[in-house]
Amino acid sequence: MAVVVAAEAAVVVEAGAAGARKRMRILLVEDDNDLQRLLKKALTEAGYVVDSAADGEEGHFLGDTEPYDAVVLDLGLPKLDGVRVLEKWRKAGKTMPVLILTARDRWSDKVAGFDAGADDYLAKPFYTEELLARLRALLRRAAGFATADIDIGPLHIDTRASRVTLDGNPVKLTSLEYRLLAYLAYHRGKVVSRTELVEHLYDQDFDRDSNTIEVFVGRLRKKLDANLIQTVRGLGYSLEDPALGTKHLPV
Ligand code: CA
Repeated sequence: MAVVVAAEAAVVVEAGAAGARKRMRILLVEDDNDLQRLLKKALTEAGYVVDSAADGEEGHFLGDTEPYDAVVLDLGLPKLDGVRVLEKWRKAGKTMPVLILTARDRWSDKVAGFDAGADDYLAKPFYTEELLARLRALLRRAAGFATADIDIGPLHIDTRASRVTLDGNPVKLTSLEYRLLAYLAYHRGKVVSRTELVEHLYDQDFDRDSNTIEVFVGRLRKKLDANLIQTVRGLGYSLEDPALGTKHLPV
């Protein structure tokens, strides 16, 4: 059985900053019950929305049908091994970042994992805080940002501290407003639909009324430069530097 040394303090620090961090959906595929429970707890405390699967078939199905921002995938899995799961996703055109978990002495697993399309790996046993740090790096890279800071025109977002400034002046946002803004910022220049926002900002059991998104966008516009968030009629929203002009034509 894999042993994970969970640094309690680190998890608490993660949880402290996480309340306001952007909600990302993570799929965790791990057949070791104890490890799955521990990781799910750490990921949830770090602010992620987490689904988990205990075998390769279920994991593959979830990754194939649900929109995840990243996947933590164990390689030694019942029913379908992790490398096969990953190969099938990549063959089907799934591009979400995948971090694989391997047994320490199985270097050949790492090679097979990377060949199958893995983005990073961690050898067991590992520290939970390292998993969280690698996951953050993967999510940033996937969104096209190499650092924790995002600058869009007058807007500056420090995603590590969940701090926002406009023209250098601090902007006070509620946790949901921040998550909404961060999500749009990670997808800057792209149109994000209301459904996508609802899926990524709320837990399963939250009232998933997409009209509330409109209310939050309205509040954000009041607190920020109103031109930063464009409404793309019938499609959703887009966050862009107002100086660059609107790239999206109204539909
Ligand atoms: Ca395993």
